[in-house]
Amino acid sequence: MKDRFKNFSPTNILFGEGKIKALPETLPSGSKKILIVTGQQSSKTNKALGTVESIIKNTDKQVFIFDKVEPNPLTSIVDSGAVFAKKNSVDTVIGIGGGSPMDAAKCIALLATNKGSMKDYMKGKKPSKPALPIITVPTTAGTGSEVNHYGVISDADTKSKSGFSSDYIFPKAAILDPTFTLTMSYALTVDTAVDALTHAIEGYLSTKATFESDKLALEAILIIKDGLPAVLVNRRDLPLRTQLMYASMAGGFVIAKAGTILLHAMGYPLTTFYNIPHGRANGILLPVVLEFLKSVQPQKIQTLGYIFNGRLKEFINKFGISTKLSDYGITEKNIPRFLDDVWGRKNLAVTPKSVTKKDIIDLYTQAL
Ligand code: NAP
Ligand code: ZN
Repeated sequence: MKDRFKNFSPTNILFGEGKIKALPETLPSGSKKILIVTGQQSSKTNKALGTVESIIKNTDKQVFIFDKVEPNPLTSIVDSGAVFAKKNSVDTVIGIGGGSPMDAAKCIALLATNKGSMKDYMKGKKPSKPALPIITVPTTAGTGSEVNHYGVISDADTKSKSGFSSDYIFPKAAILDPTFTLTMSYALTVDTAVDALTHAIEGYLSTKATFESDKLALEAILIIKDGLPAVLVNRRDLPLRTQLMYASMAGGFVIAKAGTILLHAMGYPLTTFYNIPHGRANGILLPVVLEFLKSVQPQKIQTLGYIFNGRLKEFINKFGISTKLSDYGITEKNIPRFLDDVWGRKNLAVTPKSVTKKDIIDLYTQAL
């Protein structure tokens, strides 16, 4: 039966400029050894890592740092992070960075308490124990990973991405301090905002959409529509960065409740095989997927049309995202491989229209 309202959000959210200082409040009582999971570079440049490290060093707790997570994290990096966590008997995990380090942190926290490797869990093994307590500190405004129960991890051999989900990896706390996003480049700002936009749009169209997720989705869409062009004029505008971080978090809630649909499924192989950043990959295919779903969600797609004055494709293009796959070197020859990657994904089950293999081929072809 369809849920009309569904709310399970166990994450304590602290949001605002300078909020990182409140980190000690979020640490579980009795925690002694804290693992920070982060990327290789950006959290040093934007000072998120140094700030968190010095805050913890001012307490009686010990810090361990795993700063090896690359974009689109592999199952193997999660496994090595978990070995490091176990070796040092850490009791809490803080993920600092974009979606990649936050997702890796969530999965490392899970493997630290459960047997097996990340590949097993990606293949459907169910964890038997809760993860270590997780705290997320996002430094991009796109994925919403800080508030949801997903970890998107790529297979170390095939590089194919999929979303692992478990209520055990809902973060215990999320600290959203927009000051850490001020260092984002033009392209990263666009790619991550478009990711958040597609979370909101896909959740809005999903068969699992609820009254509440629709409200959050529309709010996020409206903020990004005005906020993204504005922040690109001055990338260090803190009030605008704050708005975009809020929209991204709202998108994270939307997908926690309603999931992503066909668009994310079709975007994944563009990242796997062409290294196109995740948000950009979704933006490229957004126009053709919306056209495909028009007949089954006429009112909602009309609402999107009103919001963007019928110019959603132009909205994407104006930030330098071409919506033509051929501009990325992709040709008709790549489509069978993309189809293999998409077919059977869970996102298809919540897409509001039944999707055939031919539909997927046609959609990629239309986007060439
Ligand atoms: P990301 O892959 O985490 O990071 C992309 C790049 O941005 C990295 O080079 C990173 O540097 C850099 N970066 C991060 N913060 C920065 C800052 N404040 N200033 C400058 N550079 C910064 O990017 P993302 O788009 O946030 O995350 C994408 C990943 O999340 C994908 O794997 C995607 O599939 C996943 N995802 C997860 C969910 C979910 O619900 N869990 C939803 C959507 C997407 P460093 O590597 O040096 O840190
Ligand atoms: Zn996404």
